[in-house]
Amino acid sequence: AIINFGSINIDHVYQVDHFVQPGETLASTHYQQLLGGKGANQSIALAQAGADVRHVGSIHENDATFKQTLIKKGVDCRGVKCSETPSGHAIIQVTPSGENAIVLFGGANQTITADTVNKALLDTSSSDWVLTQNETSSIADVLRLAKEQQLKVAFNPAPMSESVKALPLDCIDLLIVNETEAAALTDKEALDDILNVFKEQWSHCEVIITLGKAGVMMLRGSDTIEVEAFSVDAVDTTAAGDTFIGYFLSAYSTHTDAKRALIRGCAASAIAVTREGAAQSIPTQKEVDRFLAK
Ligand code: ADP
Repeated sequence: AIINFGSINIDHVYQVDHFVQPGETLASTHYQQLLGGKGANQSIALAQAGADVRHVGSIHENDATFKQTLIKKGVDCRGVKCSETPSGHAIIQVTPSGENAIVLFGGANQTITADTVNKALLDTSSSDWVLTQNETSSIADVLRLAKEQQLKVAFNPAPMSESVKALPLDCIDLLIVNETEAAALTDKEALDDILNVFKEQWSHCEVIITLGKAGVMMLRGSDTIEVEAFSVDAVDTTAAGDTFIGYFLSAYSTHTDAKRALIRGCAASAIAVTREGAAQSIPTQKEVDRFLAK
């Protein structure tokens, strides 16, 4: 199984003619509530890819329908607890040109404690993987306790923040970052410099750097594996990284050859960028198989 300690957010999406100004009351022309959060997106991608995924997280009881959405997608949500704190949510204004402005509230995502982590890791087997991002509390406990139990640890430090550098990063087996996160983590800008830091200072773990439409690189021991992105007409790159991670890890955690797993990740995320939205843009396994057969 893959145990994902991750955020569950409710995205409140408001269409507006322009971003609201100080002191202004602005009527929205359209409103939609969507399930979001990097954690939930990655769990959905894992489930769509056919993985046995357990989500560990927290939402307010009034928002149980969002948990149901995850369950319907095939995610085991027994580790999703009800919190008295409001659910994590984002207030998203979208203008006609597609620009957005976002207010984010971590809420229930920040109520995960070391105790939650301990309990979630009680019933695991040595072939299990643990995955986490940077949108929930007690990440240091997740990394440390998972390593102590000799589980494989995958970490996607997104959204990146300075606090990531203080985490027990030596517990990680697989680091997955995009270019921005890689630059912030290594304090370098040029890709060559970034790669050198990872090769010199991160040799304890495997590193995947996703490069948007330039594809993906994986540092694995002394090997560097490169896979090109598929050429598609991108309309919305939201959740590209989440889709990649879910599809890659689903394959890799079941011992698929690294290059093949990277190709599956790239194919799934290429499909996702041709569709609007986050969770609803993540393709099914059948769609990915069909895409790769072309
Ligand atoms: P994030 O969404 O975390 O910023 P990236 O932008 O690096 O991550 O995208 C993740 C993966 O999605 C890439 O490695 C690539 O395989 C795929 N991808 C992203 N943008 C495109 C695109 N325009 N065309 C094809 N594939 C893409």
